[in-house]
Amino acid sequence: MVFPYMEAVVGFMILMYVFETYLDVRQHTALKLPTLPKTLEGVIGQEKFEKSRAYSLDKSHFHFFHEFVTILMDSAILFFGLLPWFWKKSGEFVTFVGLNAENEILHTLAFLAGVMIWSQITDLPFSLYSTFVIEARHGFNKQTIWLFFRDMIKGICLSVIIGPPIVAAIIVIVQKGGPYLAIYLWGFMFALSLVMMTLYPVLIAPLFNKFTPLPEGGLRKKIENLASSLKFPLKKLFVVDGSTRSSHSNAYMYGFFKNKRIVLYDTLIQQCKNDEEIVAVIAHELGHWKLNHTVYSFVAVQILTFLQFGGYTLVRNSTDLFRSFGFDTQPVLIGLIIFQHTVIPLQHLVSFGLNLVSRSFEFQADAFAKNLGYASQLRSGLVKLQEENLSAMNTDPWYSAYHYSHPPLVERLAALDKSDKKAE
Ligand SMILES: [Zn+2]
Repeated sequence: MVFPYMEAVVGFMILMYVFETYLDVRQHTALKLPTLPKTLEGVIGQEKFEKSRAYSLDKSHFHFFHEFVTILMDSAILFFGLLPWFWKKSGEFVTFVGLNAENEILHTLAFLAGVMIWSQITDLPFSLYSTFVIEARHGFNKQTIWLFFRDMIKGICLSVIIGPPIVAAIIVIVQKGGPYLAIYLWGFMFALSLVMMTLYPVLIAPLFNKFTPLPEGGLRKKIENLASSLKFPLKKLFVVDGSTRSSHSNAYMYGFFKNKRIVLYDTLIQQCKNDEEIVAVIAHELGHWKLNHTVYSFVAVQILTFLQFGGYTLVRNSTDLFRSFGFDTQPVLIGLIIFQHTVIPLQHLVSFGLNLVSRSFEFQADAFAKNLGYASQLRSGLVKLQEENLSAMNTDPWYSAYHYSHPPLVERLAALDKSDKKAE
């Protein structure tokens, strides 16, 4: 008798669903609290609090429904053997259009095309509802239905252009891999990520958004001075037209080695009344760079990728595993999909660990900005971002420990205050 891998995977997925729903219920209870947390009284206006509460509760209700539909579909697909059925159908399709279904690359591409169409169709009602009902109801949505579908079609075109060569390369590598397969796969993904990091800002991001250099003036001067005082290799300083889609605001840093760019959302510039708040937010971002957080994250991703491929090479020839999921053959892509599913428990642990690290990085970057003298500006900048984005004010400690990559505002403000006292 063989181990029932598929049933174990489905069982675990459902267990995780139950656990995460329990956390969602806890968070929902926190979101319903009618008053601000003590530390935010007098910091956040009552009107902003009411709005953020309504927005968070709306999103929470929607999330319960979305998660329920997702677990239902995902476990049904595995349990009722829809994967092997669809694999067979896509092989028949390849033969039908006069191509050779024995060719694993063609067969895999046909399968993936079907999967993509399926996921686009099943995601569509949810993303439409989220954008044009929830985001719109709370005043965030700025995009038209036309822009929404244009983005979607551009995204599909991109995957049709980029996807096939990558899929083909992975299949060839696995077929010819030999004992060092994990190293080759990792090397390929590493090279690919460097190429994508180079191409993304010049070729892909401009397909969706307009990037214009931040105009000469006070703000630009202040950011450039800050960058040069930290020896940050700032090559480009852009404003992105985030406002064409949403009034959510943000800023980020991008690029590797000596070629960095900072991108500010136009919404951030509109929402922060004084330049100092924006400069303080940038000081926080540059803290991530100066403290090597970006390097650590990159290395962590590389190690995890390597471990995943290592695990995959151990099980890729396991006939029992494939049989348990309903496959008589052992195609490369299917092996990867099955392996992904069997390591779901580990992935949850890893993402919990990564969130833990990420939150401590956030505190460190805040402290960095504070040491540069931006404590009060960062405070008001963070409060402004929290208010404008209507982020959740009351959070459940278990929920935020599990899901949040950034500490809740209450904790960040408390930490800024605490290191204040230490400095005195
Ligand atoms: Zn940060």
